[in-house]
Amino acid sequence: MSLALRLKTAKQKGEMLLVEEGLVSLPIDPFEIAERRDIVVQAKPNVASGVSGMLLRHGNTFGILYASDIPSDGFQRFSVAHELGHYFLDGHIDHVLPNDGFHQSHAGFSSQDPYEREADSFAVGLLMPSKLFRRLIGRHPLGLVDIEAAAETCKTSLTATAIRYVELTSDAIAIIVSTGLTIDYCIMSEAMKSFRNLTWFKRGALVPLNTETARFNADPSRGLRGERSSIKIDILDWLGGTNSSILTEEVIGLGNYGKTLTILSSSKIGQEIYSGDEDDDEEKLIESWTPRFRR
Ligand SMILES: [Zn+2]
Repeated sequence: MSLALRLKTAKQKGEMLLVEEGLVSLPIDPFEIAERRDIVVQAKPNVASGVSGMLLRHGNTFGILYASDIPSDGFQRFSVAHELGHYFLDGHIDHVLPNDGFHQSHAGFSSQDPYEREADSFAVGLLMPSKLFRRLIGRHPLGLVDIEAAAETCKTSLTATAIRYVELTSDAIAIIVSTGLTIDYCIMSEAMKSFRNLTWFKRGALVPLNTETARFNADPSRGLRGERSSIKIDILDWLGGTNSSILTEEVIGLGNYGKTLTILSSSKIGQEIYSGDEDDDEEKLIESWTPRFRR
């Protein structure tokens, strides 16, 4: 099975668990799901850097510890959901924790290990199930406000929510996470991709000069303070391509990590062209992913 298919299946497993558990409204509480299975969940400060949580095993009794140093409710819930992924996904226990002891996790798309990525995908499906998520979005103007509202409802981090949003929306939107001068990753919705010949930013590519993101990142204190900014910009100046069109560029500092989230959106682009073979699209999107979100 290809990795893309494994990740997609893991995401669906997360969604299916909700159906089995009769959980039909947001937010989904991973702590409650653990409790139903008699899995004890506890906060653990001072874990090694990059470790999001742990799954513990003693015989057939399981426990979860989640890193509580990062004071983000969204990240902590995601970490617990990731450990649940190891517990519920086929073959995971045998692989990551075959005997008594513990498994250390790197949740939040910070790992290339396929088991870690599957557990992340499970967490995405569990906390932001597609049906409920689709119903949620589009109630506010396209862009940051709508993503923030979804994050609030799902109790998920802004970045994780933005990635899920791009995956499930029929609107034209792109998100870029950057650090200073360089781009960490950029993902685009299908409708945005209907604009031809756009730049395909690789990790480490430079933030284009005449953008609000470049100006914003030039002063690192703005990101640390969680400031935000918004302008109108031509798609040619950000994403390239061959046709001029005006987008909204919204920029928000992600705080401590020195990272910036940029959202480019247009309610005009792609609406007529978009026709979704959703499943196929999702696989392509997953394949294009190397996102890392910790907040
Ligand atoms: Zn893990």
